[in-house]
Amino acid sequence: MPKALLIIDYTNDFVAPTGALTAGAPAQAIAPRIVELASQFVTAHDFVYLPTDVHTPHDPYHPESKLFPPHNVRGSWGRELFGPLAPWYAEHQGANVVLFDKTRYSSFAGTPLDLWLRERDVTEVHLVGVCTDICVLHTAVDAYNLNYPLTIHQDAVATFKPGGQEWALDHFKTCLNATIA
Ligand code: ZN
Repeated sequence: MPKALLIIDYTNDFVAPTGALTAGAPAQAIAPRIVELASQFVTAHDFVYLPTDVHTPHDPYHPESKLFPPHNVRGSWGRELFGPLAPWYAEHQGANVVLFDKTRYSSFAGTPLDLWLRERDVTEVHLVGVCTDICVLHTAVDAYNLNYPLTIHQDAVATFKPGGQEWALDHFKTCLNATIA
């Protein structure tokens, strides 16, 4: 049955050393593994989605405006894919490899992702990217609520928060019944 890999928020602002909300070295270190997994999914004729945060700076109506400095502004360097994922996406983008906008932590909130997965009979969702305990976590919770079996690749997720990685991996496993690969 078809599977989908979600590469969450792997952009300069969240990953690069000078990104606005960078998760730093742990996030940079997972780049080769993310690209490796993405290539495996393409080779297997499975699906690769890149749910990517997008914001208007200082939007008075957006809840994140009270929490974080401006990040992932549309058209900015910060919203470009980080490192080797950028040329990988440029080469592979198409019907089965799709970057799309999201404006909340979860990749399902206000996006067509659930419809796309159902149209394609996707029965298994794999998660990689950043941050493990924020956008990956909220996406995992929504996938769980929608009944998608989940796999989290622990060598391809990262966060900036001390203890956040361990806490989230435990939560995926013990509360969302996820496979930790
Ligand atoms: Zn955001």
